[in-house]
Amino acid sequence: MAIDAKNLGVRTRFAPSPTGLVHIGSLRTALFAFLFARHNHGVNVLRIEDTDQNRKVEGALENLLKVMKLMGVEFDEGYYLTADGKISEKGEYGPYLQSKRLDLYQKHAEQLVQNGKAYYCFCSEQRLEEVRKEQVALKKPPMYDRHCRYLKPQETQKQLAEFKAAGKNPVIRFAIPDEGQTVIHDLVYGDITYEHRILDDQVILKSDGFPTYHLAVVIDDHYMQISHVIRGEEWIPSTPKHLLIYQAFGWQPTEFAHLPLIVNPDKTKLSKRQGDISVEDFLAKGYLKNALLNFVAFLGWNPKTEQEIFSLDDLIAQFDLSKINKSGAIFDPNKLDWLNGLYIRQMSANELAENLIPFWQADGIDAKTHDAAYLAAIANLEQQRLKRLSEIGERTRYFFAAPGYDPELLIWKKSDKEKTKQALSNIKQFLTSIDDFRRPNLETAVKKFIADQNLDNGSVLWPLRVALTGQDKSPGPFEVAEVLALGPGKHEILNRLEQAINKLS
Ligand code: GLU
Repeated sequence: MAIDAKNLGVRTRFAPSPTGLVHIGSLRTALFAFLFARHNHGVNVLRIEDTDQNRKVEGALENLLKVMKLMGVEFDEGYYLTADGKISEKGEYGPYLQSKRLDLYQKHAEQLVQNGKAYYCFCSEQRLEEVRKEQVALKKPPMYDRHCRYLKPQETQKQLAEFKAAGKNPVIRFAIPDEGQTVIHDLVYGDITYEHRILDDQVILKSDGFPTYHLAVVIDDHYMQISHVIRGEEWIPSTPKHLLIYQAFGWQPTEFAHLPLIVNPDKTKLSKRQGDISVEDFLAKGYLKNALLNFVAFLGWNPKTEQEIFSLDDLIAQFDLSKINKSGAIFDPNKLDWLNGLYIRQMSANELAENLIPFWQADGIDAKTHDAAYLAAIANLEQQRLKRLSEIGERTRYFFAAPGYDPELLIWKKSDKEKTKQALSNIKQFLTSIDDFRRPNLETAVKKFIADQNLDNGSVLWPLRVALTGQDKSPGPFEVAEVLALGPGKHEILNRLEQAINKLS
């Protein structure tokens, strides 16, 4: 399918700007490039695009590397974290940070100027603003009016000399061909044609000597021998400009595969500004990394099989660009919850308990100080219902401290206060004589006791459960008692019954 332009096989890259947290869309792009590289026994490169120095965020690279490592997305070249947590670089096409490649961009921009494919632009901000206003008034799309493109050579030289004398540099703009069109042969979207007359003469080198994205991306993809560019759909309109820059240098362009926009179920854009949609946020909310990865893999990709659970190895084995959809990739939070639930249920109780410790901690519960078997028993009890690990604190607080609750909650709907108090006293009395709190024994014994006393299940089991949990919904009284007996023990169960009786007095 792909043309192996450079005979190095498949080489993909992920080229983020270090601007903060890792957005879920960035994880998707990184993951797809990685899967495509691994599926094709190729190489995946991490290149950091920091040409917009104003947007740079301290610590963003380190955070990115941590997130990628955690999620299992690997890079064969570029930056990585060493075993002792330091940032290091590997690969023979570096540096992999654009701000360290300024000479290369400057040299190439000048080369384009010499070949007549680009030109110096001396226009002031003020002039550009006036042009823009005029165009907007005429309802025309705002574009540079190419004023400097048509300056006479002497005029250009004169202005250049003046700029230099003042210690300034003009910007360099790419000269879009006047006529014709450029066709993108996208591996996902097919052929997309752009008329040259709608393309702007973009700045490719700024006056501070930094390239803009368009120039840097082409130069780097070329020199880093990238075969396939996989990136978000929002970059499609930039692609004809990139193709023209490749052409101006006489280079063979990469293949392009654009990924559909990630949208909310109502089809609105899943914006970065919405917050809470970074990978870090999802992990903090208690989504398991494998569930999140599985979910993200399906944002725009679908192998159209019955299989729902995909390990990273499954994804590598099955990933194929031809199975990427063109229409928006719907981000359905319910599906994520459902998938996370599946992953939670696949864990052993011990493993789940271990994963829950930081979430208990976040809710002020010092679970670490408890016995591992006790924590596993609690985890086991909630495992079937849990959708996010962050729900655990609220659901299981009563296992770590006696619950507070409204006494009214103790009274079953078909009972009353006096009867409830009596039922609690009776059951407390009965439990005093019981030593085996394992569920089957406990349940048989208690049910027999209820029958012998001519009581009904509800008026005994409801207050028993509430006395132990303080909640109107929770696992049943036998399950809870069994677990409590393992941890704080029988006396705690009796204490809670005593407290319940007191509450009703
Ligand atoms: N630096 C761009 C970004 O932040 C990369 C676009 C591309 O992959 O070409 O998304």
